[in-house]
Amino acid sequence: MREIVDFDNLKMYINGEWVTAQSEKTYSVINPSTGKVVANVPNGGRNETKQAIDAADQAFKSWSKLTAVERAKYLMRLYALMHQYKDQLAEIMSLEMGKPFTEAKGEVDFAASYFEWFAEEGRRIYGETIPSNSPNKRLMVIRQPVGVVAAITPWNFPLAMMTRKVGAALAAGCTAIVKPASQSPISAIAFGRLVELAGIPNGVISVITGSSGPISDEIFENPIVKKVTFTGSTEVGKLLVTKSAHQLKKLSLELGGHAPFIVFEDADLEAAATGAIASKYRNTGQTCVCANRIYVHQSVIEEFSEILVKKVKELKVGNSIDPTVQVGPLVNREGLLKVEEQVKDALDKGARILCGGKRVGGELTEGLFYEPTVLGDVTPTMLITYQETFGPVAPIIPFESEEEVIQQANGTEYGLASYFYTQNISRAVRVAEALEFGIMGINDSIPTVAQAPFGGIKESGQGREGGHQGLDDYLEYKFISLGI
Ligand code: NAP
Repeated sequence: MREIVDFDNLKMYINGEWVTAQSEKTYSVINPSTGKVVANVPNGGRNETKQAIDAADQAFKSWSKLTAVERAKYLMRLYALMHQYKDQLAEIMSLEMGKPFTEAKGEVDFAASYFEWFAEEGRRIYGETIPSNSPNKRLMVIRQPVGVVAAITPWNFPLAMMTRKVGAALAAGCTAIVKPASQSPISAIAFGRLVELAGIPNGVISVITGSSGPISDEIFENPIVKKVTFTGSTEVGKLLVTKSAHQLKKLSLELGGHAPFIVFEDADLEAAATGAIASKYRNTGQTCVCANRIYVHQSVIEEFSEILVKKVKELKVGNSIDPTVQVGPLVNREGLLKVEEQVKDALDKGARILCGGKRVGGELTEGLFYEPTVLGDVTPTMLITYQETFGPVAPIIPFESEEEVIQQANGTEYGLASYFYTQNISRAVRVAEALEFGIMGINDSIPTVAQAPFGGIKESGQGREGGHQGLDDYLEYKFISLGI
């Protein structure tokens, strides 16, 4: 299944060529399901990054001059190739960062959808004409690509976070270099192979693997790079804001989240529990839009908890490459320790385990597995109610009134995703207007699609990806006043 890339000979894709690190150094990617080495990957640095940036600069001259229709053809080739190699791409993700294989196939579809969407949307980069004050002037606004873009991406959606950026950049006429997370570089290398197969001109997209320090130093200090697009933690996002100040580089940030998931007394409890499972346990709880705080009205908390726990106990945990597995391992040891710390803290402060609550043993001992867990009697003093969990633990918090739960839900520095379940239409509108988050699912726990804007407010980020808004950050406005 692995033929798309050679696991024994992985290289970076720079300016249309496959290269090792100049230092010849590599590092190992570890399979979190087994603790075994998946492959060794080049440890690129500043020089390779500079080469990729120079190549992107050269390529920009011709790529930006193509018509939107011509660029769309390339994007649609990438779309088709991602579908063609779906199983291989899913297998890579599953091996390198532990996403359950069947879920990983879903990510390939989702990732590809951004190429389809931006191929179409690139044809609608409209300008404007403006009424003039003078009969001898004509005023217009055109939109042009910003130039060379650098994309820094996380491990939890190795393909989709890349295509959401690269699809928009390419459609807008920009060229790009991609630096994936160290935990998930093989997906990015495989993507480089698809770029090659699609016949995309050299330098339009390069993929650099290696440690973030030297690569990002080059990205932020090289004046050729006009825009950096980052998805990752809020902590690193803030650091990049300071790094971008020196050259005032355009920066868009998709950062962490702490999503409230509210179950009102008038909700369909069965649907709410199913939704909570999809939101909480997808990718083993390692998504920025995961339900992190499940608020349930006092009057239905017992019934809801029972339904939820029954469903959680049915989830199949195991080696992520098994297509029947629903919950895989945590990505790394730090992730596992963080989950354990949050659960211990909650228990010390009076929470109860309704199911799960410990590492998985037996034949999965070598992997980084934690049981799908539900905690009851959770209170706002517990770490889990304000620190991003990134693991398969669902804390249930009781509430008594709509006003109280809105205040608690908004009481976070994060503002990415939020969810609530109700059958009352007036409440749906009221609560939707009151919650301070960039994305909201009402009776829907998986709202993200390519054609809608994705992004957060407060410390969850700046800018939007996807939707027609997803092109904005890759375009400049140019005002032209024409005397006639
Ligand atoms: P991370 O540690 O912030 O890393 C993200 C990317 O930044 C990786 O490529 C990483 O490279 C790089 N990086 C790390 N330190 C850097 C530095 N000092 N300078 C420049 N680049 C640096 O985040 P992660 O653990 O991969 O991803 C999980 C986080 O991403 C969570 O907080 C999650 O909520 C957030 N996320 C947000 C969204 C969204 O759309 N809002 C989507 C997915 C994930 P190395 O791996 O080589 O260090």
